[in-house]
Amino acid sequence: MIKTHNLGFPRLGENRELKFALERYWRGEIDQPALDGIAAEIRQRHWRLQAGSGLDFIPAGDFSYYDQVLDTSVMLGVVPERFGPATQPVGLDTYFRMARGRATDGQAYRACEMTKWFDTNYHYLVPEVEPNQEFALSGTRLFDETRELQALGYNPKPVLLGPLTWLWLAKSATDFNKLDLLDRLLPVYAEIIQRLAGQGVEWIQIDEPVLVLDLPVTWSSAFETVYHRLQNGTVKILLATYFGELNAHASLTCKLPVAGLHIDLVRASGQLTHVLDNFASHKVLSLGLVDGRNVWRTDLDSALATVAGVQERFKGELWLAPSCSLLHVPVDLELEAALDKTVKPWLAFARQKLTELEVLRRAIEEGTAAAEPALSESRTAIRSRRESGLRHNQAVQARVASLSEDIDRRQSGFAVRRQQQQIRLKLPSYPTTTIGSFPQTPEIRKVRHEFKQGLLSEQDYNQLMEQQIEHCVREQEELGLDVLVHGEPERNDMVEYFGEQLDGVLTTAHGWVQSYGTRCVKPPIIYGDVSRPAPMTVRWIAYAQSQTGKPMKGMLTGPVTLLNWSFVRDDQPRSATAYQLALALRDEVRDLEAAGIPIIQIDEPAFREGLPLRQAQWAEYLDWAGRAFRISASGVQDATQIHTHMCYAEFNDIIDAIAGLDADVITIETSRSNMELLDAFIDFDYPNDIGPGVYDIHSPNIPMTEDIVSLLKLAGERISPEKLWVNPDCGLKTRQWGEVRKALANMVEAAKVLRSSATEA
Ligand code: GLN
Ligand code: ZN
Repeated sequence: MIKTHNLGFPRLGENRELKFALERYWRGEIDQPALDGIAAEIRQRHWRLQAGSGLDFIPAGDFSYYDQVLDTSVMLGVVPERFGPATQPVGLDTYFRMARGRATDGQAYRACEMTKWFDTNYHYLVPEVEPNQEFALSGTRLFDETRELQALGYNPKPVLLGPLTWLWLAKSATDFNKLDLLDRLLPVYAEIIQRLAGQGVEWIQIDEPVLVLDLPVTWSSAFETVYHRLQNGTVKILLATYFGELNAHASLTCKLPVAGLHIDLVRASGQLTHVLDNFASHKVLSLGLVDGRNVWRTDLDSALATVAGVQERFKGELWLAPSCSLLHVPVDLELEAALDKTVKPWLAFARQKLTELEVLRRAIEEGTAAAEPALSESRTAIRSRRESGLRHNQAVQARVASLSEDIDRRQSGFAVRRQQQQIRLKLPSYPTTTIGSFPQTPEIRKVRHEFKQGLLSEQDYNQLMEQQIEHCVREQEELGLDVLVHGEPERNDMVEYFGEQLDGVLTTAHGWVQSYGTRCVKPPIIYGDVSRPAPMTVRWIAYAQSQTGKPMKGMLTGPVTLLNWSFVRDDQPRSATAYQLALALRDEVRDLEAAGIPIIQIDEPAFREGLPLRQAQWAEYLDWAGRAFRISASGVQDATQIHTHMCYAEFNDIIDAIAGLDADVITIETSRSNMELLDAFIDFDYPNDIGPGVYDIHSPNIPMTEDIVSLLKLAGERISPEKLWVNPDCGLKTRQWGEVRKALANMVEAAKVLRSSATEA
């Protein structure tokens, strides 16, 4: 018998209902019972939807008010000291303070660090542990949600983040062996499992995605002991791995004392043989056949062939599932009424993916005829995609094929460029700037919305946008910033905005995916060869420059970020798509230069997240990704200054590739990690100029001038002060003008303090 299950479901709701409820809670407009009520409704709706697809097991505990890693930390009673004495259970206010640096009382805390979940654009909150860390089961959320699901009559499969993955992701201010904490940590896990068993749960899913990473032996060998200790006579454990191959850990993983194993066969189909060689037939094998990371429809015939192959060799129980949690895809394709009629059938969102599982199951158990008409419909769609001319653009392919070797090189080296740029820009030391966006006010959103709905003429829209840009320029002039930006009011999102204007790319109306907390993005869908039919940003940025005598910095999203934050084609290598995007941007960069824009920033916040999970594949990625960036940036004169920006990138380990991008200036996130990031610069002499973010824009707290000064002094110990720029750590779009004005005024003041202390010295 074949069973189907799901590893996790998007939690914010197809219309982002949870996002809006949380934000109302934070503003004090609703109380906790009201928030809990809305959350319960969303959960139940999602459970019904999943059950409606015929799943045998439905995940519980995959829901979250902010992040599942933070939920795990809190459940284990791990709350850093700065958030006050630990209460039992950890309250919602403490939870939000850890997540955002602030709860409803408005008091400021240093939030937990946020970083990317494996190679996704989902951010988790980094657990913080100490050598003497204590653990204690805190809260009943997982048990309550499991009971809630049982009350609806469904079969729950509670989901837990595994102890080794949780611990691996944790950081500590002290250097010690985190594995030493296992003795204290495992009893809490055992207690959780015990309680779930007591609630009549049959299966628990424990996620251990670290098994697809390169792990030191001490870590991989810890798995055996850990799972031996977590065995529980009553409840069965399904160990879930995803995002890649088990590789060297495959035999070990197959032999762990757990009742079932889930493997990702979309990202890592090659591991199947090895797993089958090592897997015992008294266990359950869960095949991740439906892509949980991308929106393409599953080729059901090839999935069926895979299952048939498995059944020949494996006589145990088989389960079918998405490759990973569906957190990374939008909820429902049916909501996309306006999507291109040809491309739409090529796609499947969370809901459609679960239906695919049901079709597969029926075809396997009852024969392909029983799976009609769904099976034929799927075949037709797969064939339509394979044969469609829409995917191809000869001119684009020819241009990529004929790129010269040195297409990615600037005319002169950095030293020459720097001199020419100084002559042109005449900037003071510690130049101040921002990362690009300014507050996206309700007014701005309204203008964009009305224009999209056809309620505003193009002329009125342009005029209103120009007013916004002008306002933003005036504000920056008043604040005394040195390099201005236009503020990005016309952009709903830094990736989607370009997706809307490029050929070969589609954007959706409801295709929301959680990025962090309540922040969602709608990743564009790249379905064909990419090209730029017309300039995308020049009109706005040129207008902004016309409003000021100060240098204007043009803003673009880089090719690697456009690639990594889109749903990309799976019918050609990622590098091929990256080069196409790079050429489109290269043309845009040159158009901006021709329009008199002296500085152009090409944002690459997702550069690092595209790194393969295994280090052995890094060099290849960095090679083509770096080249793609440089292709977009290198078509300009020496006197045109290229900036890039990266956020939440721990790039100590790829610092030479970052330097290899040869951007004249890089601005980076550092403030949440207290400039730890800059440690990379102690050993590595970064050649170009750099702006370490001096305050955390993700928190509503206002940075103090003294704090900024001391951060910059700290930076000045690692990087020579002439190279330093002064800027926030990311764009300001999510903030309010009141906060932004105060924060930037303090930042400009800090630059002045440093300039005068430099002349005194
Ligand atoms: N220019 C973008 C902005 O300011 C950069 C955002 C980002 O790095 N995520 O919003
Ligand atoms: Zn950023």
